[in-house]
Amino acid sequence: MLKKERYKYFVEYFSKNQPNAVTELHYNSPYQLLVAVILSAQCTDKRINQVTPKLFERFPDAASLAASDADEIFPYIRSVSYPNNKAKHLAGMGKLLMENFNGVVPSDLKDLQTLPGVGRKTANVIASVVFDAPAIAVDTHVFRVSNRIGLTTRATTPLAVEKQLVEYLPQDTLAIAHHWLILHGRYICVARTPKCEICPLTWFCKYYEQHNTEKALLKAEAAKQKKAEAAKKKRTLNTISKELKKRSVDKNN
Ligand code: SF4
Repeated sequence: MLKKERYKYFVEYFSKNQPNAVTELHYNSPYQLLVAVILSAQCTDKRINQVTPKLFERFPDAASLAASDADEIFPYIRSVSYPNNKAKHLAGMGKLLMENFNGVVPSDLKDLQTLPGVGRKTANVIASVVFDAPAIAVDTHVFRVSNRIGLTTRATTPLAVEKQLVEYLPQDTLAIAHHWLILHGRYICVARTPKCEICPLTWFCKYYEQHNTEKALLKAEAAKQKKAEAAKKKRTLNTISKELKKRSVDKNN
């Protein structure tokens, strides 16, 4: 199947079935989304949503964040991953937002990336979600699912994936495609073992195609049998070892 066809089916399927996909992070303003996205690096959205209500109550805007420091922010985010670093990032981000942007989250990708804790991925999320810019953020889910489906080829870095997605996806779907890929990766095309048995994309997924040829299925079956035989052998050896120990105890008595 041609790459262009995979894109076509991908956009058709999700446009029809998830036309309103959005981020699972809770926020009410660009500032709140920026804070939530910074916190969400290497952490789950669920965890971030647990800490942000109290954090936003105490630090409702860039000015309040700028007036604080990492020590004051830390207790509010102690349960997220890398709380020390993130507390420093948030304090620095608040200060820079006030000093350079009047407390308003900028729309420009370069401006966004001058803020502490904001890399290309976070900047792309803000640009696309808040400002409707034709950008797509590549996180671990987007990276993995794009590669598996075959939307990207030989893309070994997030930037390479981003470039191919931007090249092939219709511009008006870039922002929402980010959510399609994340949600699909979070709930179906999961990292360790993708749930292909319940996935509606099998008919155009490259990974599925490659892993479901007769040869691949035979190989998987052979590996399964080998594993079962090894487990059986281990059980038998354990039984023999226990029996020998028992006999040795009986003999000594
Ligand atoms: S078929 Fe499997 S590998 Fe392909 S997208 Fe679905 S879950 Fe992922």
